[in-house]
Amino acid sequence: MAPPSVQAGELTLTAVSDGTYLLDGGAMFGIIPKPLWEKVVPVDPRNRIMLGLNCLLIRGGGRTVLVDTGMGTKWDAKECERYGIDHSRHELVRSLAEVGVSPEQVDTVVCTHLHFDHVGGNTMLDGQGDAVPTFPNATYWTRRDEWEWATHPNERTAGSYRSENFLPIHEAGQLRFSEGDWEVLPGVRTWWVGGHAPFLDLVRIDAGGLTAVYLADLIPMAAHVPLPWIMGYDLDPVTTLQRKKQIEPQAAEQGWLLIFEHDDAMPLARLVSEAAGRYRAVAWS
Ligand SMILES: [Zn+2]
Repeated sequence: MAPPSVQAGELTLTAVSDGTYLLDGGAMFGIIPKPLWEKVVPVDPRNRIMLGLNCLLIRGGGRTVLVDTGMGTKWDAKECERYGIDHSRHELVRSLAEVGVSPEQVDTVVCTHLHFDHVGGNTMLDGQGDAVPTFPNATYWTRRDEWEWATHPNERTAGSYRSENFLPIHEAGQLRFSEGDWEVLPGVRTWWVGGHAPFLDLVRIDAGGLTAVYLADLIPMAAHVPLPWIMGYDLDPVTTLQRKKQIEPQAAEQGWLLIFEHDDAMPLARLVSEAAGRYRAVAWS
């Protein structure tokens, strides 16, 4: 099946998958007890659930922009097993090729944050086994604060960052730093939310009467729409909660297109209201 696309004015928005991987289900749902979340999401014998790796391709006005790059392909056999990385159905460069985009054509890569499951495809291994930029003509963007955070991790955050995903980009002179929210192209802006990580950005598109939001790790899967369903990984879950309470009512009332980065079954969705303050995601159609 071709990657799903939505037209927003002059812009074509496409969810391009880098496959799937597995993470601990308890960590993915924080304070929610397993008897509740296992009714919603299938769990394997090692208590892991499957996550999608939906990156966002934005094309229009002569531009080819990619938001996040998935897990990438630099993993050894042991790591592939530990994370259950599965590129059999989808892999980012193949998904881009399915919509006619070569790595050379990507002009901009926006990193919502530098966690390894969001920027793993920034680089790939060359013939010598060195990590080199996957998109040789692209300017890659990260918040300067996120760069500082990622390059000076603490004991709680270190496991989320792998320098081979971003140092080679810097060394190649392809990395630029944003100081705040910025316009990627007309109608497309980054949107700082924090919470999951202090410098987490979303990407918001307003074009052709449609508002679309790439939710990154704020609401990673459709199952995380209910307000207290927040990942245990989040460094500041109360900020995540506040942002969800800010965004979900608008998204439901105004019919926003939501892009779930980690939902393999439902990359594109809208919210419907169930009761006061309670929403549910349904597939975009
Ligand atoms: Zn993250």
